[in-house]
Amino acid sequence: MSQSELETLRGRVDELNSEILKLINERAVVVQEIGRVKEKSGVNRYDPLRERTMLDLLKESNHGPLPQSTVEHIFKEIFKTALELQVDDQKKALLVSRKKKAEDTIVTVNGEPIGQGKPSFVFGPCAVESYTQVAEVAASMQSKGLKLIRGGAYKPRTSPYDFQGLGLEGLKILKQISKEYNLGVVSEIVTPGHLEEALEYIDVIQVGARNMQNFELLKAVGSVNKPVLLKRGISATLDEFVHAAEYIMSQGNDQIILCERGIRTYEKATRNTLDISAVPILKQETHLPVFVDVTHSTGRRDILLPAAKAALAIGADGVMAEVHPDPAVALSDQAQQMNLKQFDEFYESIQKFMNTHHIHA
Ligand code: PEP
Ligand code: MN
Repeated sequence: MSQSELETLRGRVDELNSEILKLINERAVVVQEIGRVKEKSGVNRYDPLRERTMLDLLKESNHGPLPQSTVEHIFKEIFKTALELQVDDQKKALLVSRKKKAEDTIVTVNGEPIGQGKPSFVFGPCAVESYTQVAEVAASMQSKGLKLIRGGAYKPRTSPYDFQGLGLEGLKILKQISKEYNLGVVSEIVTPGHLEEALEYIDVIQVGARNMQNFELLKAVGSVNKPVLLKRGISATLDEFVHAAEYIMSQGNDQIILCERGIRTYEKATRNTLDISAVPILKQETHLPVFVDVTHSTGRRDILLPAAKAALAIGADGVMAEVHPDPAVALSDQAQQMNLKQFDEFYESIQKFMNTHHIHA
């Protein structure tokens, strides 16, 4: 084949490309028009039966050389793009997404604005065990000017024979501590059945990792007027995490804090693998504050500090860590909670780190 023949054929392909392009766009305009008609009459845009008819017609009139499966594949794509055009981007965007709302959401708890630039801290025992146990931690927190305490009253444990938490009794202890030490309370609720009762005792409802895809619970916490701290599921992708937050927001509650707490991988050196990159991704994709739980992600006291520094350096809005007056006898998570002295050192180092790196607003 001569060079000029090749040029001619290529020229013809270019012409055909632009014809196809013109036709696809023309088609899209017609489909948009159909969409408007359907919207007026309240009919669903996607009509699988109509698609089937169109595909059958195309196959009937296809005399090759393209095989039927290829024709079907190409036209399915064409159908899809036209359909997507009908829904405007703003409508399609998730409520939790930056596309929907560009400004950062600020969640205020106990007078503390969360997500406004100054990092927040949540400390406290894994589980509420007694008034004195929580009070010791609370006193230490108050002396540091901290505002948010955590403690589980309902504990989702791997074994049903392990300590399940004090339940309502635990919530009452937290409430008392909250008043005495001026601390906002973050505590996990595991079932919609406990929610209403819990509202008067706590300031932030925690939805734990194991419940991130408990959709009825998500809808329930989405229907109340109380901030929610939503933890990432043990093996949840970020997309699943974001959609879990969407469940909450879709019910009207927009006071949501996301919390990266490590995911399950093959690595055994840590309890979970802290997915630090989740922080900037979630900050980009959503307008919600993002925390890092350094305790459950690492499961190791010896690396709580570097993990917390990493979290702050990468842009987390807050850090959560467990503190217990006597971790050796804790009823849960013995290996990872800090004692009060370790807590003092940890907090002092974090303060220094923030000052050195100008992480404060
Ligand atoms: C907790 O914070 O008490 C807890 C159980 O954490 P997670 O749900 O992340 O395992
Ligand atoms: Mn714990």
